[in-house]
Amino acid sequence: MKIFKDKHTLQKEILKTKGTSFVPTMGGLHNGHISLIKQSKKSKFKTLVSIFVNPKQFNKKSDFRSYPRNTKKDIKLLKKLKVDYLYIPTFKDIYGFRPKNKVFLDKSSKKLCGKFRKGHFKGVLNVVNRFIEIIRPRYIYLGKKDYQQLYLIKKHIERKKIKSKIIECKTIRENNGIACSSRNIALNKDQMKIASNIFNYLYKLKKKIKKSYKLFKISKIKRDLIYLGAKKIDYIENYNIKDFKKIKKPNKKFNLFFAYYIKNTRLIDNI
Ligand code: AMP
Repeated sequence: MKIFKDKHTLQKEILKTKGTSFVPTMGGLHNGHISLIKQSKKSKFKTLVSIFVNPKQFNKKSDFRSYPRNTKKDIKLLKKLKVDYLYIPTFKDIYGFRPKNKVFLDKSSKKLCGKFRKGHFKGVLNVVNRFIEIIRPRYIYLGKKDYQQLYLIKKHIERKKIKSKIIECKTIRENNGIACSSRNIALNKDQMKIASNIFNYLYKLKKKIKKSYKLFKISKIKRDLIYLGAKKIDYIENYNIKDFKKIKKPNKKFNLFFAYYIKNTRLIDNI
């Protein structure tokens, strides 16, 4: 595995190949990331993983500072997975140039996480736009766990007529049901149990509301989640996953989207 910290040496290496399959990450690698990488490795292009904790997408400095980082462990894992290239850029490498494309931020960026994390998606699109310009990937592998992010990146790519293709990857879960996340390591055993109980509650709820939508009573659900141990709930909403609009009655394609806190850890998922 070749490791790059500078875009020019990276470009020298990759732009002469037929193209790359790109897996952007913020490190703290887990089974979700591994699954994306394994899918990328099945493509005919070389796999490039990036690790960059992007300060611009954090709306709280404290959250950026405390975001789990474990680069040594990540490198070991990526070598084991036989990843071709790893790009660990500095802030300057990413933000020290003016990208050709301006970011397109679809209006659905104001919803769900966008409403509760001001500037978050602008920061995400900014970094993704820059990565695309540096790497010019053939494929980009993204997880459905962060569905709103995936949707907005797709919209940007469509609008800007970028040639990279997004590959949507399914959410990988722990045995207790909760989505794998770098943030999970902040949870102790009791908090893991709370997250698992909340997941099971919402999983069953989704099944019930498919049959009878009047059971979707947000204030009651929020009360139940607090009872189960959530500290705060940002949102629980049903969205059509094709157009990313809130649904009024259940149809086949809706997902239940939620974001909540256990102590200071914010967890998001959709089922
Ligand atoms: P992150 O390192 O959290 O920025 O995530 C990097 C990529 O991994 C994003 O495309 C995420 O959607 C994806 N990802 C994170 N968690 C999971 C998961 N549990 N299952 C599948 N993909 C995931």
